Amino acid sequence: MTNKCLTLALHGGAGPLRGREYAKELAHMRGLIEAGRDRLRAGAAAMDVVVETIAHLEASGFYVAGRGASPNTDGVYELDAGVMHGPTRRAGAVAALVGFASPIRAARAVMEQTPHVLLAGNGAAAFAAVQDLARIEDAAAWFTHAGGSAGRKASDLATGTVGCVARDETGALAAGTSTGGVFGKMPGRVGDSPIPGAGVWADDRVAVSCTGAGEMFLRAAVAAQIGHRMRFAGEDLATASAAALAEVGALGGDGGLIAIDAVGAVAMPFISAGMKRAALHADGSIECAAF
Ligand code: ASP
Repeated sequence: MTNKCLTLALHGGAGPLRGREYAKELAHMRGLIEAGRDRLRAGAAAMDVVVETIAHLEASGFYVAGRGASPNTDGVYELDAGVMHGPTRRAGAVAALVGFASPIRAARAVMEQTPHVLLAGNGAAAFAAVQDLARIEDAAAWFTHAGGSAGRKASDLATGTVGCVARDETGALAAGTSTGGVFGKMPGRVGDSPIPGAGVWADDRVAVSCTGAGEMFLRAAVAAQIGHRMRFAGEDLATASAAALAEVGALGGDGGLIAIDAVGAVAMPFISAGMKRAALHADGSIECAAF
């Protein structure tokens, strides 16, 4: 494989609101794409770039994931994340994780250190503690959104999952998604983001990370559907991505996704007002936009 097929895409959620300024997020996303590009050019593995990029998105506090997550109706920050490795179809995820700074690192540890795919709640936290992952000592000080009636309005927060997909020089594809979920969620609610086949997917043909109305993405199995459309129906990346997203729309949801295929195509469709996104295309060009 040659460098010309290195591709990388990330999103900062399908929640941008018309009339708001996203210069800070756009500059941040572009910087992460440039850093990821340099790592891929230096031979880094797709999974390493995906996890590092998402860890930066989580730590920034600019998106509704990681440090920027919003709490549930009990005021608790329950975070979800998932990763998937295309060549092996190994996957790892955490759901309703409380008390740890980087859900995406916990998800990767589930994939690499356990025979399981998904750990939830107290079990996920106990596992993360054993893995020595960074803890949040003081949630009130760490999270940038107070949320609920004490914090910002739902219309300010909207939603803002983060995700990344990458293709490395060996041709391996990888995907990851991390989220604080939707504003005003019930305790214990888990959306599509950590679920392989719904909000995250990677196989030998495609890597996908979704954002938007999680319940509809779950019901449409969006991420796996794209892979299956390509595998069984012979659709190309853009056609499969648009068709899967149209099912979300037909179910009454909105959102978007980032996807890359094995031969250098990048698709970033959305049916919401906008989607914070950035990509490195196979020709080396960088695309970065919110609407
Ligand atoms: N899909 C996410 C969820 O339902 C939310 C988002 O993408 O903003 O948890």
